[in-house]
Amino acid sequence: MPRKIPLKPRDRRQDPPASSPVAIRRALLAWFRSHARALPWRETRDPYAIWVAEVMLQQTQIATVIPYYRRFLEVFPTVSDLAKAPLERVLELWSGLGYYRRARHLHQAARLLTAEFAGRFPENYASLRTLPGIGDYTAKAVLSIAFHQPYAVLDGNVARVVARLFALRGNLHQPQFRRTVGTELAEIFSRLRAGDFNQALMELGQTVCLPRGPRCSACPLKKWCCGFRCGDPEAFPLPRPRRATESHYLAAALLRRGTRVALVRGLDEGLLDDVWNFPAAFGRSPAEALERLREKLHRLTRASFSFGEPVAEFRHGITFRAIQGRVYPVESFPGMPRGSWRWFELARLPQAAISQLARKIVHRVIG
Ligand code: SF4
Repeated sequence: MPRKIPLKPRDRRQDPPASSPVAIRRALLAWFRSHARALPWRETRDPYAIWVAEVMLQQTQIATVIPYYRRFLEVFPTVSDLAKAPLERVLELWSGLGYYRRARHLHQAARLLTAEFAGRFPENYASLRTLPGIGDYTAKAVLSIAFHQPYAVLDGNVARVVARLFALRGNLHQPQFRRTVGTELAEIFSRLRAGDFNQALMELGQTVCLPRGPRCSACPLKKWCCGFRCGDPEAFPLPRPRRATESHYLAAALLRRGTRVALVRGLDEGLLDDVWNFPAAFGRSPAEALERLREKLHRLTRASFSFGEPVAEFRHGITFRAIQGRVYPVESFPGMPRGSWRWFELARLPQAAISQLARKIVHRVIG
């Protein structure tokens, strides 16, 4: 029978023995040596390549990142290649990865590195933090992996493993609880092998200590793990409070001229501002979305648009929004819209910096 889960933030009766930090460290590093997956960013110590990987891996699965990472480094093998490139080209290579602000920051930071650091990666935390998009986590990951500096990183995977190892109950989104997890992490952290230690804990969280159904029987830390010993490791940490999914309707306009379509920057309501999209508007019903789209186009062009019957319907998710969309062909429109619009050749769309939602529409409507 599993033991009752302690109600206190931490049950001291279940602490690992005081002598265990060294043993935990050793077991983890030995496991990593024999179980580490061969990932392309593990074949290099180039801080630039490690930085690109860390940025791409934020909120994105490893399997998705690998082809993007390879292509990105083929096109921009150095910081200076990235700095010299136009932003549009960077966004094209990012297209499909999502969270485009990451690409914009990467590009800005590469320009700063070239202008102010002679293209070399600063080897200290304070300088790294001055670069756009480099927060506490990314700075510590790059410094520990590329420069072997003794910084422990605390991402979601690491935090879950540590919370289970020490049976810490709490919400990882609360700073106080993260600090508690950070304190326990510091107890087992290897200052001498910081990069490997950080990657090993991340690897353990990604492949063994899974959010659901941790594979404790295959875990090198089982012997010391309080979460395992109490019989319900999934009780640590507390589950993240989820924002309820909201239903939204979207009307998208298909402005087509021969082999070209017109796209705009941004979707609606401040979403997907960094990439090209079909002109679109949200609404609480399909009719309201279409009406808002009509008003939006009128505001942008001072002309009236007429729409045909929808040519496609689709569903798409953006964070907590569950979107049901319809694509309306524009039957007449007053010449070339101005401002942030641009005509794209249909054949070029797959390589363009368009959103996943736009890609879905292209697939549904144009094939
Ligand atoms: S024993 Fe289980 S719960 Fe504990 S760290 Fe290993 S996989 Fe996670």
